[in-house]
Amino acid sequence: MNIAQNVELGCYLFPNKPALIFEEESFTYKDLNERANRVANGLRSLGIRRGERVALFLPNIPEFVFSYLGILKIGAIAVSVNVMLKSDEVSYILNDCAAKVIITTESQSEYVQEADLIALQHILITEGTAKKGISLTELMAKASPEAHAVEMARHAPASILYTSGTTGFPKGATLSHGNVLFNSYSANCCYRIQKSDRLLLYLPLFHCFGQNAILNASLSACATLILQRRFDLEQVLKTITVHQVTMLFGVPTVFIKLLNMDTSDCNLKNIRYYFSAAAPMPSEVAQRWYQKYGIVIHEGYGLTETSPFAAYNHNLKYKLGSVGTSIANVEIKIVDGNGYEVQAGELGEIVIKGPNVMLGYWNRPFETAEVIKNGWFHTGDIGRMDEEGFFYIVDRLKDMIIFSGFKVYPTEVENIIYQHPAVAEVAVYGVDDRLKGEIVKANIVLKTGHPITEQQIIDFCYQKMAAYKIPRVIKFVDSIPKNSTGKVLKRVLRQESTVVSS
Ligand code: ATP
Repeated sequence: MNIAQNVELGCYLFPNKPALIFEEESFTYKDLNERANRVANGLRSLGIRRGERVALFLPNIPEFVFSYLGILKIGAIAVSVNVMLKSDEVSYILNDCAAKVIITTESQSEYVQEADLIALQHILITEGTAKKGISLTELMAKASPEAHAVEMARHAPASILYTSGTTGFPKGATLSHGNVLFNSYSANCCYRIQKSDRLLLYLPLFHCFGQNAILNASLSACATLILQRRFDLEQVLKTITVHQVTMLFGVPTVFIKLLNMDTSDCNLKNIRYYFSAAAPMPSEVAQRWYQKYGIVIHEGYGLTETSPFAAYNHNLKYKLGSVGTSIANVEIKIVDGNGYEVQAGELGEIVIKGPNVMLGYWNRPFETAEVIKNGWFHTGDIGRMDEEGFFYIVDRLKDMIIFSGFKVYPTEVENIIYQHPAVAEVAVYGVDDRLKGEIVKANIVLKTGHPITEQQIIDFCYQKMAAYKIPRVIKFVDSIPKNSTGKVLKRVLRQESTVVSS
């Protein structure tokens, strides 16, 4: 098997069907396959072989897709590097995986410090004639458009996706061809992608959600992917109309923004399928969405380490507030601190076993052994399962707040604050406190034209939740910091806040 065979199949079955659309350019399955072949042959001509690492330090541009598929075709390992990283962070990752080649843009190449890189042999630059390194365009032009994806074992590494490093140095989650193939088919099957579908991808391709749950899922269904360089809501709305997008994927903050803006110029009702994952979807938002558009937002759950798909809230038995049941062939259970499964309804850590679980962290056997025990991947997420096997994510263990010995789950508090009509966005987090250990703090973005005081929010909370959960500090802000996928950066909020209680 080889995950890049998806594009070969698309090329064989529907050579002239658009596989990828980017700005004014359109690439059929045949075009895409040929370009991937040129990258594959170009890399071979540079001496790159099976199992060697080739890094992609690229924004969402077609060259990312050509290169990613080309790397996989020769059995090399595609390492995705977050485009927001700077020199030291890039060097750390390239050295950690001993990348031999990096593919990047002219402007990003300033963050590639060759002198610091132990294994790097070539820098490939995507645009025109490169000032530094080799031009990818020229390399591709010289290479043959003919190639076949080499056969790879199910357990052979296909890609490395680095964690964001919230708990120390970034670790390279290593996914096998089997992992990625399983994930793309599972995603395809859950979303029920049709070959006529047009999926919009503005989430970063260097992240597991964009790369596996959207790009690879789209290719495996021979559908059309509309690639957008970055997340820009105005542009998203324009693209939906211009390219008649039928499937929209996002993190909850995207759906929150769409609900709070005027979308009358863009007929979102034409979209037949919505999907949210990567962060908790407030029930209030899911309900408002359904009332406005008459379509549910399907929710999925997973992590980079699980390729990412692990659970899905199905069409036929949709349950509000749940991330659904485990997907086919994947087992999920809730365990206590000793690793024993708890009763339905009880809280514990979510653990996952199945063909979606990564091989491990690149070159880190100890860190891998800490999270994969007897085949069960320990997610660090707190959740519960109901009697029917539906899972509910309560929060991330590392975001849980302990106020005077009481456990407070920020997501639960956020869900309640979202019910207040003046609230556009909210992020709840804990800040260190000399007396209480931690106190609950909420940053809130208000809807325009809804003046309200901090005390009114606190009074509202008093009616809805136990006193120990109520935010002691409310801060009205213009925006909430998010990472490149649109997830709220609680770590940044915590760092920004140093509150000492009197
Ligand atoms: P880090 O590297 O720090 O883990 P990250 O958050 O970008 O960064 P991911 O692997 O993308 O890493 O995120 C996985 C996490 O996202 C899960 O552990 C879970 O906390 C959260 N998550 C994913 N899907 C959902 C969902 N549907 N509902 C709630 N939380 C979710």
